[in-house]
Amino acid sequence: MTTALTAITNARIYTIDANFTCYRNGTIVFDDSSIIAVGHTGEVSVPPAARTIDGKGRLAVLPGLIDTHSHSSLLKGYTENAQLMDWLPEYQREHRALNETDAYYSCLVSYMEALKGGTTMVMDMYRFLHKGAQAAMQLGMRVQLVPYAADHPTKDFFETLASTEQLIDECRRYPVDRVKAWVGLEHITYCSEAMFRAARDLSDRYGVNIHTHTSEQQEEVAAVIKLFGKRPVHKFNDWGILKPGSVLAHCVWLDESEIATVAATGTAIAHCPLSNMKLASGPAPLQQFREAGICVGLGSDGGISNNTLSMWECMKGASLLQKVTRLDAAAIDAPTALRMATIEGARLLGVDKKLGSLEAGKQADLLTVDLWQPHLLPILDSEGHDPVLWNLVFAARASDVKDVWVGGLPCVADRQLCNVDEAALLEAISKQTGELLKRREKFAAIPMI
Ligand SMILES: [Zn+2]
Repeated sequence: MTTALTAITNARIYTIDANFTCYRNGTIVFDDSSIIAVGHTGEVSVPPAARTIDGKGRLAVLPGLIDTHSHSSLLKGYTENAQLMDWLPEYQREHRALNETDAYYSCLVSYMEALKGGTTMVMDMYRFLHKGAQAAMQLGMRVQLVPYAADHPTKDFFETLASTEQLIDECRRYPVDRVKAWVGLEHITYCSEAMFRAARDLSDRYGVNIHTHTSEQQEEVAAVIKLFGKRPVHKFNDWGILKPGSVLAHCVWLDESEIATVAATGTAIAHCPLSNMKLASGPAPLQQFREAGICVGLGSDGGISNNTLSMWECMKGASLLQKVTRLDAAAIDAPTALRMATIEGARLLGVDKKLGSLEAGKQADLLTVDLWQPHLLPILDSEGHDPVLWNLVFAARASDVKDVWVGGLPCVADRQLCNVDEAALLEAISKQTGELLKRREKFAAIPMI
């Protein structure tokens, strides 16, 4: 079998390695799996057989972005203008009507949006996720699938631990290693103590991690304290789901003792700044998380709660939210935001040895950004300062992503998806959305608690 070799030359390469090395005029060479070499142009030899893209000093190259908390959906823009406790019951009408075909198209449209914006890996908490696996395999994307599981009698439309186990098992048999499954618990008030304990057993048995939401809004935390007599993170700890590799989404309203527990147990946090702003949840204490040594990745929380899956907006949002909350213009600088969207996301997902930075031997998950556009100029360093690094975080958009590779294989080329017929899929997605909306009309919202 011949190996396809690709080289990108004369590009600004942000490796996001441990030294945050940037090659102002760099070259990267990779095959249909891994990165072979990265360095200064002229110091990296380009094999004659390589397909070469000349960046002409106008392309940036970055590791693929990693969305550590998302929910696929067909129904972006239908649940609006509501705080979480009112938003969730309305959102769940989608789930009560959802069938496998809806789920397939939900995942497809969400992964298509993400991939075109340079996101090469998504942690997706959703349902019928064998269909998510199918969508990801079609597109060539990397996904960490986490079924929404719950056992409260009013939430019987969610997944179960039995269906989760089936998905974990199925994913092990897929011919690619891009599609994996973890154990997911929807919410502390949707799942019994027995379910939490069984989730821990399942995660230990298969050697996979656990993901759930917590402490997104103040009213939610107050309700949990009233129900259980303890703050949510302490309850999770009692039930055994906090351990190295576990991931909690949001954590906006953790108190000091909960932050200490998250740190002591080696649990990671998926921070979703845009969703937290749009649902008026509040600013998560990101600085305290980082000072406590907690691994923090960035999450879009899906199109349903922030109307975009753009990790570019997520990086900018994470930075701005901390700046305005702390009244500190230096909070979460561009390198920190980029690290959270790449290598820290990879660490949170337990894949940082093979993903998250551009280094020889790592998987070739990467993207190019077209810098030669009015909103991304200048590309001129002065006095040792690189404006491009900052403009990538504060000015770049998902639509600036030109090419994307996952495991060295092209997924987006010149802004077009490589492995699917996008026009035909958009027709099918739109038709299926109409059908889901019709079925959803029959279902009324059920209060959260
Ligand atoms: Zn979520």
